[in-house]
Amino acid sequence: MANLTALRDHNTAAVLGRIRAADEISRVELALATGLTAQAVSKIVQRLAAEGLIAPSGLTPSTGGKPRTLLRLVPQARWVVGAQLHRHGSTLLLVDLAGRIADATTTRFDPAGATPRQTLDLLAAQVEALIAELPRDRVLGVGVACPGPLDQHTGVLHQVTGLPGWDGIPLRAELSARLGLPVLLDKDTTAGVLSRPGAADRAFVYLGDGLGAGLVLGGRVQRGARTNAGEFGHQVLDPRGPRCACGNNGCLEALCRAALADGDVGRTAELLGEGVANLVRLLDLAQVVLGGDAVLADPEVFRGRVSAVVRERLPDPGWQEVGIEISDAGEHVVALGAAGLVLGTVFGEGAALEG
Ligand SMILES: [Zn+2]
Repeated sequence: MANLTALRDHNTAAVLGRIRAADEISRVELALATGLTAQAVSKIVQRLAAEGLIAPSGLTPSTGGKPRTLLRLVPQARWVVGAQLHRHGSTLLLVDLAGRIADATTTRFDPAGATPRQTLDLLAAQVEALIAELPRDRVLGVGVACPGPLDQHTGVLHQVTGLPGWDGIPLRAELSARLGLPVLLDKDTTAGVLSRPGAADRAFVYLGDGLGAGLVLGGRVQRGARTNAGEFGHQVLDPRGPRCACGNNGCLEALCRAALADGDVGRTAELLGEGVANLVRLLDLAQVVLGGDAVLADPEVFRGRVSAVVRERLPDPGWQEVGIEISDAGEHVVALGAAGLVLGTVFGEGAALEG
């Protein structure tokens, strides 16, 4: 059975990652690309084909020598579930090995109005409903993305703003026990930055329930010492500003919330732009992807104003070009990134998540 553990072997992941990235590839090219011996590649290919994960897709054009068999991924051989749990409900996606969304469910509920146990039961039932038609051994696992702070290594939630009852809940272990499937947990913003390949130095800035950023630097996702990097919204811009949910005054998040509450989308976008400009100057980013409900409600205002503020703030904007984009996965961006957490273990973290 090709469960997650069996596919976690490093060489297998490297071979699968290359096959996925290439669309079609021969064994010889696989050996060259992975640095594995021809025998090692053949053995892995044989096993992956027996498990139905890859299939022959044709022959290389004849150039005088013996034509080589080309191999391709079978995207629907296995499935993963990506789930976003936020303060107003959940979004769940059924995703194939190529990262394509086959099914989606969005549910509004109030996790603060339920016990963590009730919410976990509900989340497990939603996953079960999504995979009901699939053989169990075709489901590799579930990736869950939540607001932080949380411990990505242990899968335990900490003092999530607005969800005091969740402090100390081992979400990963609890959900895994309910489903009998592997579960991975990460911050929503980190999942967001991993939802699609992009520049080696980039951020995903998410203005939804809260305001945070996921970071990839030098091609590697950055989680920090306690896996809580990216509390972008809690940079204090005005110490005498409005009270923030975190207890401080004048955080960027509180300023953006206040502007949004006034119905001033342009001002919100400009404030966000100031924060993004700080981030770009601090980290020398090449790309910033914007997402979250507030951004998706007025995408062009956010893209335009944030771009303008960043250009204004950079000393040499022609040289330090920064792509400011709106997430093309829309409302699914975080859940898709959560699915990517599981896919990353199958295809090799660098390969699947960083393209
Ligand atoms: Zn704050």
